[in-house]
Formats: sequence, structure tokens, C-alpha cells
Amino acid sequence: MSSNIETINIIKEISGVNPLRCMKCGKCTASCMAYDEMDIKPHQFVSYIERGDLESLMLSESLYKCLGCFACVERCPRNVQPGKLIDAVRQTVIRQRGAEGMTTEEIRQLITQEVPQQLLVSAFRRNRR
Ligand code: SF4
Ligand code: SF4
Repeated sequence: MSSNIETINIIKEISGVNPLRCMKCGKCTASCMAYDEMDIKPHQFVSYIERGDLESLMLSESLYKCLGCFACVERCPRNVQPGKLIDAVRQTVIRQRGAEGMTTEEIRQLITQEVPQQLLVSAFRRNRR
């Protein structure tokens, strides 16, 4: 549990998100273009972090459905930036997975004509760190 708290604190630090600023207005979720695909919605991400439920977030499909468009970041009236929180949780999962992550060749094989260009751009932005 204490390592969970430490990880949550690291996630808050690298994302710059303070969940206590959230006023639960739902504007982030209302502006999310991946809404239908997300099992945990952007505003819920903030609430999960606030109550310390990291496991659910780390298992969430939303980590891989979020397009990284940051519409939720722009729409938030309290500058909570839920998209950055999702990004930070996804990075944490990838780092913990270590060598089990995908290789460049495996990714290349998954790219088809149907893959939205926006997804490729946001994936590039996330993974070139
Ligand atoms: S960054 Fe992700 S969570 Fe935020 S609006 Fe875009 S798709 Fe939705
Ligand atoms: S838009 Fe901002 S303040 Fe409103 S629910 Fe989303 S994170 Fe919270």
C-alpha cells in the first residue's frame, strides 16, 4: 500500500496534476473523443487517483484508448489536466513492464490503413522520450 502511495505521488509529480483541484464538472469527459472506448472516463481518472485506487487505473483499457489529443486538458476550467494524468499512468505501466514492452518491428506490423493518423502522431509524441 505504501509503495502505491509513493507511485501515486510520482504520477502526480510527473503529470503536474493536483486531483484536489477537480470540481467534478465533467467537462473533460464531455470533450473526450475517445469517450465510447474508455472504461474509465477522464474525470474518473482524477477521482481514482484522489482516492488512491491505482490498480484499477493500471489495468484500465483507457490507457490505450486515449488519443492524447488533450481536449480534456484544454477544456478543464480548473487546470487539472486529466490527459496528462492518463499519460503518466500509462508511462508507469510501460516502465514497470520493462522488457515485455513491444518492439519497433511489432508496432510496425500493427500499422494498417485503418489506423487513424492522429493516433500515430500522439504515439510518436509519447514514445520519443
Ligand atoms: S487526451 Fe485522452 S482523455 Fe483527454 S480528451 Fe483526448 S482522448 Fe480523451
Ligand atoms: S474538467 Fe477539470 S474540474 Fe471538471 S471534472 Fe474534468 S478534471 Fe475535474
